[in-house]
This record gives sequence, C-alpha cells and structure tokens, in this order.
Amino acid sequence: MSEHYWCHGPSCHTYVTTDRVRGSKGSKVLRTRKVKVYNNGYSSFYKYFCSNGCYNDFANKYVEQIIRIAPRHEPLETPIEDPKKTEHTTDWGHKWTHTEIKKIDTESNVG
Ligand SMILES: [Zn+2]
Repeated sequence: MSEHYWCHGPSCHTYVTTDRVRGSKGSKVLRTRKVKVYNNGYSSFYKYFCSNGCYNDFANKYVEQIIRIAPRHEPLETPIEDPKKTEHTTDWGHKWTHTEIKKIDTESNVG
C-alpha cells in the first residue's frame, strides 16, 4: 500500500506531460499528479506538490490566505559584527574589494 497525496497545485492537471495522461481510449484526460508520501520525518512542500511550479501556482493563488497565517508587521534583524572590507589585487592588476559580514550567533539566528 503506497500512501500519497494529490498534488495541490491548482493547475497541475492542465500541464501537458505524458505522465499526466490517464483514462481509456476515447476519454483521455490530463490528471493531477500523485505525490508519494515518504515517512522519513522530513516535512517540506514536496509532500504536497509534485514540483516547484505547482507549489508556486498554489502560493500565488492563495498568497493572501497564506500571509494571514504568519503576518509580519515589522522587520526582523540579525545582529552582525561590523563588516570588514578587504582590498585585493589580481596578478594582472585588477582590483576588487570583498566585504565580510559575520553573524553574531544568537538563539534566534542559529540553524
Ligand atoms: Zn503538480
């Protein structure tokens, strides 16, 4: 017995690919893809969507509802050390600068 979800992409059943073709001769359809459920303890949107495209379709269609789950009214901030700028010169004289930005580890930004 294999567990699965139907892809939640609102347009999944409209994309023309051979693996979506189902039905018998004379009444063929493009059908929403099945997404196999892997019980590996890892949860991601791939559990519910067959592709990034279908996930994007869903997110774009329902963005207002999705945002209401966790609305943000103020920016978040990650503490950093003062950025260090270093200048480099290649063997053929081209100069470039690199700015190193280091996060200060805090409970909120680790991991
Ligand atoms: Zn899909």
